[in-house]
Amino acid sequence: MSSSLRKIGLLIIGIIVLPVLIFSVFEIGNLRQNEKVIQNIYKNQLDAILYSINQYSDDIVSNLASRIENSLNNYKTDTVPELNRLINENLSAKCLIQFNNKLQFRLSVPASYADSTFLSEMVTILDSNNKTLLQLQKFMKEGYRKIEKISNNSSDTQWIVFITRADDQEIINVLVIDPQKFISQVLDPKIQEIAKGKFNIAAFRTGEDLPFYTSNKQFNPGKIDNKEPFWLLKNYQMGIELKDLTIADLAKDRIKRNLILVGLMDVILLLGAWLIFRNVTKQIELSQLKSDFVSSVSHEIRTPLALITMYIETLEMGRVKDNNKVKEYYSVILNETTRLSGIVNRILSFSQIESNKRKYCFSETDINEIVENAAITFRYSMETKGFIYSFKPDKNIPLIPVDREAIADAFVNLIDNAMKYSTEIKDIEVRTGISDKYVYVEVEDHGIGISEKNQKYIFDKFYRVTEMNLANRVKGSGLGLAIVKHIMDAHEGKISVRSSPGSGSTFRLSFPVKLLKQL
Ligand code: ADP
Repeated sequence: MSSSLRKIGLLIIGIIVLPVLIFSVFEIGNLRQNEKVIQNIYKNQLDAILYSINQYSDDIVSNLASRIENSLNNYKTDTVPELNRLINENLSAKCLIQFNNKLQFRLSVPASYADSTFLSEMVTILDSNNKTLLQLQKFMKEGYRKIEKISNNSSDTQWIVFITRADDQEIINVLVIDPQKFISQVLDPKIQEIAKGKFNIAAFRTGEDLPFYTSNKQFNPGKIDNKEPFWLLKNYQMGIELKDLTIADLAKDRIKRNLILVGLMDVILLLGAWLIFRNVTKQIELSQLKSDFVSSVSHEIRTPLALITMYIETLEMGRVKDNNKVKEYYSVILNETTRLSGIVNRILSFSQIESNKRKYCFSETDINEIVENAAITFRYSMETKGFIYSFKPDKNIPLIPVDREAIADAFVNLIDNAMKYSTEIKDIEVRTGISDKYVYVEVEDHGIGISEKNQKYIFDKFYRVTEMNLANRVKGSGLGLAIVKHIMDAHEGKISVRSSPGSGSTFRLSFPVKLLKQL
């Protein structure tokens, strides 16, 4: 048995435990890698959001450029007021200065900016950015207006250059804006819309840790890792963070969750493996008990049969003349036949129970009466074996709906056992009573008793106590108590035992009184 168990154990380890462990180690290894990939995906998503803000600022200036171009063409004589209106509309624009393609001053809106030092400084800077201007012109020729930032000497303003056309003339426009206002007033509505409670978006001057603008006023930025420069604003950056968690927190959270899941799955699978192993062990033990049962029952049947045959042969030969001896032989034959039919009945009764064929027929009965009637059948054999039997009935117990025959069987089983497992003190006492809403009948002997460990198993089918060679010394099938338990279950009752090795056992059958009302 132990070698087949070892084989099954190894098999379970091989097909469940090992793969589970390998899978878990592999999964845990993969988790970090997966999280890095996810972290990158998140980062790319955040970058895409920053990209869309840059795209939006480009659109705003492009749109303004188109409207400037339209006003140059549509309000030829009255361009300046229209341009003034456009510049005033844009909350961050300080002024618009226009030059022709030879960098000669054309106009300034508002006019107050057209002072000569400012203009000559602007021309010098534009001149030094000749390459950029050429590029803008090239794009314009190809039908596409590009917007470019140009550095100037003041950090409070940003120059943005683009080309417009009027009367087939190219005009170089320098839009001077306040970068902080551009972000916090012009871009703010768009940023708010994008952030929508999910992200914190902030704007910084390059080199500064604290932002001068945040999408959420309560936002207290730590160190934002995800930063991108503004395309149109030199020395300005924007940063983005998930609102409640950083990406690292998010990744940590996911790792934790996945680790818990892998752990949980391992526990479930290992528990499953353990359950399978336990089940198989039980089945193997049961088949071992069954084969023990077959050999012990064959032995039990063979012994009385041999005795019966021997005594009948002796009587048949007519050798026994003494009448007393003849009587004694007949009584042995009767005893052995009773024992034999007892064994056969028990096996039949058990097989009925196993196939769920046993039917019970309940009727309100006085348990004392069942005990008294049953005593008639075993009293003689008890006396001949030297037992002292006493019955202490409680006359006040209520009637209980039971299957009389089944309960008599159960009771006789307990009496049989009490006799089988008694040694020197051959006192058997039966009591009935009521306790805790249960009517009970109990059988007390002063026999060998049962250890606490074995008390747990004696109601299992085929189980026999093997300590001190008991199973061989006292004949039995290991079915009696299993049958009694089944009968008690069918009555919604209980069977219990109080026992200690060497000082005897008391088996109690308890029937719930409430059954009376139910039926
Ligand atoms: P068996 O045919 O072996 O008596 P049972 O199912 O009636 O089968 O009992 C199971 C085991 O419980 C017995 O083998 C015996 O070891 C133990 N047992 C039952 N009744 C008693 C008792 N009155 N005293 C001591 N041991 C008992």
